[in-house]
Amino acid sequence: MDKIAIKLNSDLTKSEIIQLLALDDFTPVYEAADRVRAASVGDTVHLRAIIEFSNICKRQCIYCGLNRDNEDLPRFRMSHEEIVATAREAVAAGYRTIVLQSGEDPWFTPEKLGAIIEDIKAIKITDIGTNEFVHPAVTISCGEMSEEDYAYLKSKGADRYLLKHETADPEAYSRLHPCGTLENRTNCLKTIHKLGYETGSGFMIGLPGQTLETIAEDLMLLRDIPCQMAGIGPFISNPKTALAGEKNGDPELTRRAVALARLLLPKANLPVTTALSIMTEEEHEQNPFAFGANVVMKKVTPDQYKEAYEIYPADFKPTDIAGDRKELEEIIKSYGRMPL
Ligand code: SAM
Repeated sequence: MDKIAIKLNSDLTKSEIIQLLALDDFTPVYEAADRVRAASVGDTVHLRAIIEFSNICKRQCIYCGLNRDNEDLPRFRMSHEEIVATAREAVAAGYRTIVLQSGEDPWFTPEKLGAIIEDIKAIKITDIGTNEFVHPAVTISCGEMSEEDYAYLKSKGADRYLLKHETADPEAYSRLHPCGTLENRTNCLKTIHKLGYETGSGFMIGLPGQTLETIAEDLMLLRDIPCQMAGIGPFISNPKTALAGEKNGDPELTRRAVALARLLLPKANLPVTTALSIMTEEEHEQNPFAFGANVVMKKVTPDQYKEAYEIYPADFKPTDIAGDRKELEEIIKSYGRMPL
């Protein structure tokens, strides 16, 4: 086992992060991340219901199946009523957070999105502890907007915003995103934070050209914003994109990055990512909560739309919102954690 002379705390420098990522045996860092997780956010695992309500996107992110140049993808938009009905079903099944995610679809104007947020926020949940009514938290993940639009959605009740920076390497960012710049992405994140949203960013592991140095910069960017949520997942090659045939991100390196995110951001909400959960059999044999994560995002998108939200190829099982949630709760309990 490597002897770690580095103090495993939130002040890690870039060169220390790189050294840790390269360790032969990462066990001591995983153990430290798990201790920090237990001390900072406890044993609760938060379940979030994600509704993927439109796969129409004006952008051209070259790794993503939703990019506007992918003519092979049948496109859809859920109606206001369908979105709110799905959110109601998720809340009835026990979810306390609804995540609304879409491509950058200009048809969903801030006014339309705001009306959806208001209707979801009006859903009542009886708090088990106090027997009083509470309302679901709403996370928005719809891409880049103006400060005015982010502020408008906040005024309509949105609580959190998730906008992954994807890669902190400006050159790689421009290569992968013909429609944007890293500077604009990070400015959006700073605005979201300034407006008082619980702010989420994140990045992919395994994008072509990525190095341990880039991953260290990705992690430091999360700390700089500073983020209260971070989604870190492996890049999965999509055959319908320009990155067809590229190698998928390494699950071990992904887990290492999540563990380091826990050290840098002790109180953050860190999901076990969807992409990670569809990886190998070997993945499932390991406790997915042993590396610092404390959140699970579960798709509740209706079956008729689910397959078309194909960011990367995945095995889409039919949705049973209440049944899937029960199954997930049992899995979480089997790892000694408390689902909420
Ligand atoms: N339009 C919103 C945005 O830009 O944040 C949200 C939708 S976007 C499809 C959601 C996330 O999917 C992105 O932040 C990206 O990290 C992830 N993603 C896209 N293509 C991927 C791929 N091939 N492998 C892994 N993750 C991918």
